[in-house]
Amino acid sequence: MARVAFIGLGNMGGGMAANLAKKGHDVRAFDLSAEALDKAKAAGCLPAASAAEAVDEAEAVITMLPAGKHVESVYNDSILGTAPVSAILIDCSTIDVATAKRVGETAQAKGYAAVDAPVSGGIAAANAGTLTFMVGGSAEAFDRAQPFLADMGKAVIHAGASGAGQAAKICNNMVLGAEMIATCEAFVLADKLGLDPQKFFDIASVSSGQSWSLTSYAPWPGVGPETPADRDYQGGFATALMLKDLRLAMEAAASVDADTPMGAKAAELYQAFNDAGNGGLDFSAIIRLLGKDRQ
Ligand code: NAD
Repeated sequence: MARVAFIGLGNMGGGMAANLAKKGHDVRAFDLSAEALDKAKAAGCLPAASAAEAVDEAEAVITMLPAGKHVESVYNDSILGTAPVSAILIDCSTIDVATAKRVGETAQAKGYAAVDAPVSGGIAAANAGTLTFMVGGSAEAFDRAQPFLADMGKAVIHAGASGAGQAAKICNNMVLGAEMIATCEAFVLADKLGLDPQKFFDIASVSSGQSWSLTSYAPWPGVGPETPADRDYQGGFATALMLKDLRLAMEAAASVDADTPMGAKAAELYQAFNDAGNGGLDFSAIIRLLGKDRQ
């Protein structure tokens, strides 16, 4: 078991750090929020007074922070030059590809092995230790990060060089955003055409319209497995976070001149839904923007 520094103990990081402690690691945890630190302590982590204190003598340093600017400042101010150069640096936050590459390259230039390792799976998967990690970095850095990630997830996949984990994450979530909107449209249209939504689900689930948004995460209440639609769209994966990921995808697409018209439309619709005050609802609630329950 290893000494692990964990920085960023929010909705996702709190559960992830707790799982590492459960597996027997000596977890030194830091967050700006005292409440998050208290929760980590109750889950078996040792709270640190600062990020720099947390990374002291660490064998692995894991960050789970809101955005690229937080990751870059924590790396520059508290990790690089403070953590032992023998530590493996693992950033699990979802951030822009350019910052992920820059942070990875700066760390490597200072002699560290570093990976970007964003996750698929929400708060429930973080708590249950069933996340999927997509990892960018050298083969050697991946091999060193893998055992720590396996202690927090069900799948750990090497995506490629530095930044490739973030590229995989935003491409996956761009599919998800567009696919959810298409699924919502189909449910609303089926209903308006007099087709029972349950019948549409039964048929499309075993036909070519099948997708994760349909069979595992149906946006129509009462059909398929239990989903946020059955809880008035509470919990799940917040609209604001889907919008964040779609914006990152659009930014990345512009940087390499990739054509992503469906992704762009999904970003536009999620922006409108978010701006109407729905950022805290599950992302499948966008079915309301598309006419469900409209008189
Ligand atoms: P969150 O806002 O709940 O947690 C972020 C934590 O980072 C907060 O507790 C905050 O106090 C802390 N923090 C910010 N700056 C800090 C600093 N300088 N030093 C120490 N702590 C600092 O966010 P979250 O939902 O846990 O998401 C974290 C990351 O995971 C994000 O990049 C998000 O996009 C990604 N993600 C979230 C989900 C989800 O369902 N919530 C799913 C997949 C990926």
